[in-house]
Amino acid sequence: MAERYWQKEIETASREQIKAIQDERLVKTVKHVYENVEMYRKRMDEAGVSPDDIKGAEDLHKLPFTTKQDLRDYYPYGLFAVPQKDVVRLHASSGTTGKQIVVGYTKHDLEVWDDIAARQLYAVGADENDFIHVAYGYGLFTGGFGLHGGAGRIGATAIPVSSGNTDRQITILQDFGSTVLCCTPSYAMYIAEQIKEKGIDPKSLSLKAGIFGAEPWTEEMRRQIEEMLDIKAYDVYGLTEIMGPCVSYECSEQTGMHVNEDHFIVETIDPDTGEVLPYGTPGELVFTCISKECCPFIRYRTRDIGVLSIEPCSCGRTFVKMTKPKGRTDDMLIIRGVNVFPSQIETVLLRMGYSPNYKIFVDRVNNTDTLLVQVEMTEDMFSDTVTKIKEHEKAIKAELRSLLGIGADVQLVAPGSIERSMGKAKRVEDKRKLIGG
Ligand code: ADP
Ligand code: ZN
Repeated sequence: MAERYWQKEIETASREQIKAIQDERLVKTVKHVYENVEMYRKRMDEAGVSPDDIKGAEDLHKLPFTTKQDLRDYYPYGLFAVPQKDVVRLHASSGTTGKQIVVGYTKHDLEVWDDIAARQLYAVGADENDFIHVAYGYGLFTGGFGLHGGAGRIGATAIPVSSGNTDRQITILQDFGSTVLCCTPSYAMYIAEQIKEKGIDPKSLSLKAGIFGAEPWTEEMRRQIEEMLDIKAYDVYGLTEIMGPCVSYECSEQTGMHVNEDHFIVETIDPDTGEVLPYGTPGELVFTCISKECCPFIRYRTRDIGVLSIEPCSCGRTFVKMTKPKGRTDDMLIIRGVNVFPSQIETVLLRMGYSPNYKIFVDRVNNTDTLLVQVEMTEDMFSDTVTKIKEHEKAIKAELRSLLGIGADVQLVAPGSIERSMGKAKRVEDKRKLIGG
């Protein structure tokens, strides 16, 4: 299939052209926030930087960071850079990590969002002939409306199912002929499981692609979903603070997501020192909005860890690519001094052929951190003897030890016993936090 682009000129522009756009838009945005947002004016004055000092993207590092705490401190509208009469939509973060935050969009901001979602849809091979089944939640959460807007933009048929009611999702997949499924990867996995359970042949569906994001997922999970649903599964990244889904989008190469650099400048920094890191080095992703009117946050610290690359991509797009974020710095567990991302545990389980339905429990007993991984048995294992099950548990333990470098307890539990997620999966229960440890 020949590669198709929604906005070819910019998606395949030369690096010089992209830099020129960024320079111009950054200068304009910095003036805009300095004039209209008290926090930015104060912060820049304190740092001794004036809008005139920002002549292009190379001056970005002179500007102070923006954090989630700032959004909370100025909640609800303190960081809006336009008058309320120009705000046509509000969204709020899903509140995965604490008090919700709110962002606003002008008409122009929503148009940009539609365009970047349209770029994602074209990149997975969709066009006006497709049925876009949106099973991300609609509402204040940005997931549903993001892809919905993109579908309208390209003239495809949007099916705004929202999340939940899995039987109904499956009936719609069958009856309405959905060709592209959009939801979180954990929900895609659940839908796939249910399709299998009902004995439905995925080849009997019209699905060809999936756009799955809003939470970390592994390559192993991608392969399973692709196989179970007989589709190509693409990653999509975004966050409410910057726009919502499609801040970056995956292409046919499926090796990471192109950042929409004409709208967002991306940097990676050392999360401890704030120092800017070169491409290729893992670091905290930091985004600066350069075309937004209502909430153009400057150097927003995502707390997501990723790696940037500017290697040429076979799809022909020239935007910087970011890897799948492994998780947020605040999802990273420190267990007996060792850093562990839940996605590393997922990798081990799936590589060994176990179920993607797992839960991680962390606790502190006698001043020592404990780690327990519960994973569901497969249907065939369920009838195994206790000795056999113990052997499986031992094998997982050994793999976890060799990959993570720490000991974990492993418990195989009955198939179907771990709660399924229709949105973002909650895989970790850290009891240490509950007791203030
Ligand atoms: P909340 O912060 O309440 O979860 P958001 O929906 O704005 O609300 O979540 C954005 C976050 O979701 C990102 O900062 C990132 O941690 C995570 N995320 C989004 N897309 C992906 C993805 N493709 N891979 C990994 N993590 C993702
Ligand atoms: Zn590409």
